[in-house]
Amino acid sequence: MLPRLCAAADETRPGNVQGVVADASGGGEYVSAENTAAQAGEHLSPALRQQAWNEIRRNARKLGLATASQGASKLIGVTFAWPLAGNGLSDPGYHAISNFVDQASNSQVLDYNCGARSYNGHRGTDYYLWPFSWYKMDNNQVKVIAAAAGTIVARSDGNFDRSCSVNNNNWNAVYVQHSDGSVAWYGHMKNGSLTAKGIGASVAQGEYLGIVGSSGSSTEPHLHFEVYDANSNLIDPYAGSCNGLNLQTAWASQRAYYDSAINKLIVGTTPPAFSTCPNAESPNENTSIHYGQPANFSTFYRDQLNSQQSQYRIVRPNGTVFASWTHNSPAAHYSSSWWYWNWSSFAPTGPSGTWRFEVVYNGQTYSQNFTVSP
Ligand SMILES: [Zn+2]
Repeated sequence: MLPRLCAAADETRPGNVQGVVADASGGGEYVSAENTAAQAGEHLSPALRQQAWNEIRRNARKLGLATASQGASKLIGVTFAWPLAGNGLSDPGYHAISNFVDQASNSQVLDYNCGARSYNGHRGTDYYLWPFSWYKMDNNQVKVIAAAAGTIVARSDGNFDRSCSVNNNNWNAVYVQHSDGSVAWYGHMKNGSLTAKGIGASVAQGEYLGIVGSSGSSTEPHLHFEVYDANSNLIDPYAGSCNGLNLQTAWASQRAYYDSAINKLIVGTTPPAFSTCPNAESPNENTSIHYGQPANFSTFYRDQLNSQQSQYRIVRPNGTVFASWTHNSPAAHYSSSWWYWNWSSFAPTGPSGTWRFEVVYNGQTYSQNFTVSP
């Protein structure tokens, strides 16, 4: 399926432009396939869900692990670290969130923060790769790691991992039971990427479990992270005023609802190219530009809000400013968005040396160096 990239020309107009003005600019929202109503569906069929539970309970019993305690409240006795990590990736970020746990028991959609970043019946949190989810999967750039230490009580591997649609196929997943009897489900991983550790093996917090993929009922590479307490009550790891499942956060450090950041800056002579599912995208990174070549500068955001102004600069080797401008997103919120500025003939007379593409956004400075040469 085609990624949805939407922007009108006036949405991208930069402000306070100084220096050498870009010849073209654009961009807009990237709508994850995981976030489109048509694709929303249970991430594991009821039959496969039951099969997973049967395996988890059978193995936990065999291993003599903690079982449901009487009258336990709906909280878990372990704290979670972030379940993803870059795998040899130098980008400042690599994900965005398409769906939180659906807190509404009826057909409404309600996330823990009283918003609607979910779909009806969703039982986990979906972290999709952004930008270039297929490229990232193909290059093993983002790994799933254990949010908490525990014991592998079930696993499934060997399933097709380039899914573009909702289906009834099984996923590649690891299920980790923690010391208090709670269980975390890590789903949709890349075929053959799972940890070599088997049922009954211990994993440490932060330990490798697999690579983010698109196995099972999935429309794009993402991690579906689902959590149960020792009594098989669904837990939403995020605390918030509309979390009716549990009062306390499960995170050691809960990230903001709008976790605004820049995931990646790209400099190139050809614009980045998206693709149709499940083909890899073309980032077209090229940090070596010759005098007068076309140059493209792109920025990939997560949770961009229109109240957040980005300050852009392209700086020459001697520290003087070649171009500067400001930019605001036109929308109240985008889970993922990208914006680009093109020069059809960049620095036709140089100077040569190491230049810098820089963005100040939400209190952080992001930069990407590139060289210009004759
Ligand atoms: Zn999900």
